[in-house]
Amino acid sequence: MPGHIWYRYGTAAAAAALVFMLRAALDRYLEDRTFTIIYVPVVLFAAFAGGRGPALLATLLCLGISAKSLGWDLVTDPANMIDIACFAILGPMLGFIGDRLLRESKQAGDRQAHLQSILDTVPDAMIVIDDRGVIRSFSATAERLFGWSPDQIVGKNVSSLMPQPYRGEHDRYLERYLTTGERRIIGIGRIVVGERSDGSTFPMELAVGEARARGERFFTGFVRDLTERRAQERRLQDLQSELVHVSRLTAMGEMASSIAHEINQPLSAITNYMRGAKTLMAAETFDTTRVRDALDRAGKQALRAGDIIKRLREFVAKGETQQSPENPVTLLEEAVALALLGAKEQGVRVAISSDRDIPSIVVDKIQIQQVVLNLVRNAIEAMASSARRELTVGVTKADGAAIFTIADTGPGISDAIADRLFQPFVTTKEHGMGVGLSICRTIVKSHGGNIEALPNPGGGTVFQFTIPFAEAGEEA
Ligand code: ADP
Repeated sequence: MPGHIWYRYGTAAAAAALVFMLRAALDRYLEDRTFTIIYVPVVLFAAFAGGRGPALLATLLCLGISAKSLGWDLVTDPANMIDIACFAILGPMLGFIGDRLLRESKQAGDRQAHLQSILDTVPDAMIVIDDRGVIRSFSATAERLFGWSPDQIVGKNVSSLMPQPYRGEHDRYLERYLTTGERRIIGIGRIVVGERSDGSTFPMELAVGEARARGERFFTGFVRDLTERRAQERRLQDLQSELVHVSRLTAMGEMASSIAHEINQPLSAITNYMRGAKTLMAAETFDTTRVRDALDRAGKQALRAGDIIKRLREFVAKGETQQSPENPVTLLEEAVALALLGAKEQGVRVAISSDRDIPSIVVDKIQIQQVVLNLVRNAIEAMASSARRELTVGVTKADGAAIFTIADTGPGISDAIADRLFQPFVTTKEHGMGVGLSICRTIVKSHGGNIEALPNPGGGTVFQFTIPFAEAGEEA
């Protein structure tokens, strides 16, 4: 092992032995001269390979060789004395210098190893380029991410890691930055597209830092792969959508069962009165007043059933209302985002365009968002089998009211239910409850607005509902 003590001193001694043989071979030419210059390489070698200790050993050994070959001439001849004294000083000096160099090179090595360990372990890929865009270093994560090994990519232009059109533009961009200082990406995280060695692309987050060293400029890019994060987000969305679905079903289910329970009483009463009337009428002569009475009672029970439904719908709409002034645009955007979160359907293009500066509306935010959520869900469901899936939503300002529009490019409202669209339990869906639109209407009406469905000129349906603006005094 090169750093081992025996190795360091051993090589110094071996070098001294070599020079001893050389000195012996040259002895007859050198006569009684010390000629210490031939020892200098030995001390240099010992100093730079082993440091101070081996350099001192080599110096002593060389002095010993001189003493051995010259005997008393070494001390009696002043020239030899001067030569030997100079060498005796030079040896340790070289040793100190060697020590220092060794230490510095070890520190540099440690720093390099430290840096490399960081480069190898940072979760972000790191790529260092120079001011011409040439890749200088490529971390282990970058290797995994882009599929290039450092041998293949270091020395190439960084634009090889980008798809067109960025690839063509990068050099110009770098040039513009160097001449004008105009920053597009330096110091700012950006979401961009990267290209792997197999030509596939992926979304990545890029942050770039700038450094200067010895008059050269370097840029370090930190790259984070967003594919994994997107996948996680998608999983989360699926989960949320399940949740929304479940809660919607539970709410609907609860409502349906309570409706069924409440309505059962008047219905069985009606049946009983009808049976009674039938029995009365079966007799040869019957009392018409009694039959009329039974029918009257049955009619009242039917009205009671209607009342129950009305009360339930009011309960759904007014339940625990918390009215507050809201910005219609933010309210709509939030609800649409929520609705899309739950929507598994991919490939729906959403366009939101609203008027600016729309006054506030005083509403129960959750309820109005529920309306939007329902309409957006219906629209997405309606477009499931359409070739064109465009959802256009927005709020516009009209006379005294905000008009919310949710337009789809689905098949349009089926003729069979068009005139009963907002009535409860009207549905064309296999598993539909048919209560969504009736609840929407109740909520909109309880806010003093209106809801209607119109055919979309380009095919599909446009649902529109209005919510009156807050009175001046009510604004927050
Ligand atoms: P559900 O969605 O449970 O059927 P809704 O009251 O929300 O209950 O909707 C009632 C019916 O109205 C649906 O079954 C469907 O036929 C029709 N409908 C609602 N929205 C749309 C739409 N955007 N496009 C076409 N038909 C629609």
